[in-house]
Amino acid sequence: MSIAGNVGLADLPRICPLISRRMQPSGDPSATRVVVVGTVRFGDTRPTVIAGPCAVENFEQTLTVARAVKAAGADMLRGGAFKPRTSPHDFQGLGMEGLRILRQVSRETGLPVVTEVMDPRLVETVSEYADMLQIGSRNMQNYPLLIEAGKSGKPVLLKRGMAASLCEWLGAAEYVAKEGNLDIVLCERGIKAYPSGEYTRNVLDLNVITAVKEETFLPVIVDPSHATGVASMVEPASCAAIEYGSHGLIIEVACDHVGSIRPKCDAAQAISPATLRHIISFIDARMEHVALKRAQVV
Ligand code: PEP
Ligand code: MN
Repeated sequence: MSIAGNVGLADLPRICPLISRRMQPSGDPSATRVVVVGTVRFGDTRPTVIAGPCAVENFEQTLTVARAVKAAGADMLRGGAFKPRTSPHDFQGLGMEGLRILRQVSRETGLPVVTEVMDPRLVETVSEYADMLQIGSRNMQNYPLLIEAGKSGKPVLLKRGMAASLCEWLGAAEYVAKEGNLDIVLCERGIKAYPSGEYTRNVLDLNVITAVKEETFLPVIVDPSHATGVASMVEPASCAAIEYGSHGLIIEVACDHVGSIRPKCDAAQAISPATLRHIISFIDARMEHVALKRAQVV
């Protein structure tokens, strides 16, 4: 510990012994915990793709987007029923109705679903509808929420706080782990830094993927949508994240033809199903390349 109150990587084994790679009995130093969500496996050989709308707005929109992302090759559905919005006057999500829609769409498409929970009192309810609980950037250090998510036993997608250090992020994951729940997937979603707000919403910290992999055995994925805030940046950011070794992506997608209405949240960063297909083709090509290389070595 250099400056009073400041922590560095050397403190990680003390801060988060349960998830620290350095605290594990010697074994494969590159082993990743595979987090299973229904049919989906995070941390396995192939990167996992979660896609869907920013917010659940109605049944038709959610089903249309879900079918389109499934056809594009996505593994899992995302969609917010409880939305953390800067202004209390903006659309806050459909709440319980949103959860019911997500469950129904998940049943119809066969895609497992992840959705955000913001209130510790709602963890039990959201767990009944979702296959995975998302803890958002704004709530990364909401400790009562992390504890409840840990107790739920549900897989947790833990976003990085928008100004969080790696130690703070992994410390937050340790709160979930301390309740006996090691089914945690970390998600880098961009951090506030110069030039946030100019040509990008946030700055995608690709280096943190490598750092996370060195410090913990938990899988880590990337959210290129919130990291950039700009639709044209989502595909290059996704491909870069995959090249950096991300275990997956979570991407916001909109279908223009759903009533020709702009999404109520984050319209500027929503990509089309066709662009999602390009990103997944990139993953396919990379997996083929890896398989080919392995075959050459054997
Ligand atoms: C989201 O994924 O819907 C979201 C609000 O993201 P973040 O918490 O990363 O801002
Ligand atoms: Mn969003």
